[in-house]
Amino acid sequence: NDQIILKDYANGSPKETDFGKKTGRIALKVPKDSNGVLVKNLYLSCDPYMGTRFINKKSYLPPFTPGQVIVGFGVAKVVDSGNSNFKIGDLIWGMTGWEEYSLITDTKSLFKIHHTDVPLSYYTGLLGMPGMTAYGGFFEVCLPKKGETVYVSAASGAVGQLVGQFAKIHGCFVVGSAGTKEKVELLKNKFGFDEAFNYKAEKDLDAALKRCFPSGIDIYFDNVGGKMLDTVLLNMNLHGRIAVCGMMSQYNLDKPEGIYNSFCLVSKRIRMQGFVAFEYFNLYPKFLELVLPCIKEGKMTYVEDIAEGLESAPAALVGLFSGRNVGKQVVVVARE
Ligand code: NDP
Repeated sequence: NDQIILKDYANGSPKETDFGKKTGRIALKVPKDSNGVLVKNLYLSCDPYMGTRFINKKSYLPPFTPGQVIVGFGVAKVVDSGNSNFKIGDLIWGMTGWEEYSLITDTKSLFKIHHTDVPLSYYTGLLGMPGMTAYGGFFEVCLPKKGETVYVSAASGAVGQLVGQFAKIHGCFVVGSAGTKEKVELLKNKFGFDEAFNYKAEKDLDAALKRCFPSGIDIYFDNVGGKMLDTVLLNMNLHGRIAVCGMMSQYNLDKPEGIYNSFCLVSKRIRMQGFVAFEYFNLYPKFLELVLPCIKEGKMTYVEDIAEGLESAPAALVGLFSGRNVGKQVVVVARE
C-alpha cells in the first residue's frame, strides 16, 4: 500500500520536500470488531485548507502528524465493510487517506455516491466539498438578489468557477479575477462571467474594479483576502455583503497584511461573514437537486486540472499556492 506522508512540518505553505513516501502492507479486510470500511482510493482532492495542517499550530483542524499518511477529501470504492450502511462495491466521497487503500473508521464523514452518470472526479469538486462551499457561501451567506453585481476572486479555481456560474444562473452581473491570461479567458468564454481581469497585470486594482463595476459591488465572494479585500471595501455598495471564504494571499505570510478600509463596513452598512463549508453539508440533497440537472442540461460546466498517479499528489497540492492549477486540482490514484 503506497502512501504519501508528512515528512516534517512546513514553514509557510507546503513544499514538495515536506512530503515523504512509505510502502507497507494492508490486509484487504476490515478488522473483525471494526464498523469501518476498507476503500480503494480513486480520486484525491487538493484543497488549500490542507496547507494549514502542514504547520504545527492549532487551527480549526489539527495539524497532520509527521510519519502519518496525509488525509483529505477523495472518492473511493468500498472493497470490504464492517458497517451495514456501506456494502462492497459502493462508491463514496469524504475524508480518506493519500494512499492506495484506506481503512476508514469514521464513516460519519462519508457520503454514498448515488449518481454515477457524471464524472466521478466531480465528487472532489463540483459535487463535493468545493461545490458545497460555493453553494453555501453564495446562497446562504451572500443572500443574492436578481440583478445584483457580484465579484469573485480566485475565480477560475475549484470554488470560484462555481460561484460565478451560480451567480449567472441567479440572474446577477458577475465579474471574476484570476492570475493568468489563460484563466481570464476561461472565466469569460467557458464559465460565462460578464467581465474578468488578470489581477497580476493590473497596475491599479481600484481602477480595475471601478472599470468593471461603474455602479459598485453588491456582493463580494472573497477567496484571497489582503490587498484585494481592502480595495474591494472601497468599491462596495450600501448594504453590500461579503462572504469570507478564504485568504489565499495571506496563508504563507508570517504576518497577515493590514486592512485599512474597514470603516467602509460601518459607513456602507456592509455585512461581512466568514463561513466554513461543513456548516452547509446538511443542504447536500437540495444542492444536488439544483446542480445535477444543470450539469446534464449543459447549464453548468467544470474545469479540472488532473494530475496522474499518487506520486504526483505533493506537487499538485503545492501548486495551489502559486496558482499553477487551472481549475479544480484532482489527483487520480486509480480509475476504478
Ligand atoms: P483554487 O482552485 O482557487 O486554487 C487556489 C488559487 O488561488 C490558485 O490557483 C491561484 O489562482 C490563487 N492564489 C494562489 N496564491 C494567491 C495569492 N497570493 N493571491 C491571490 N490568489 C492566489 O482553490 P479553491 O477553489 O479550492 O479555494 C479557493 C479559496 O476558498 C481558498 O482561499 C480556500 O482556502 C477557500 N476555501 C474555503 C472553504 C471554506 O469552507 N470556507 C472551503 C474550500 C475552500 P490565481 O492564478 O487566480 O492567482
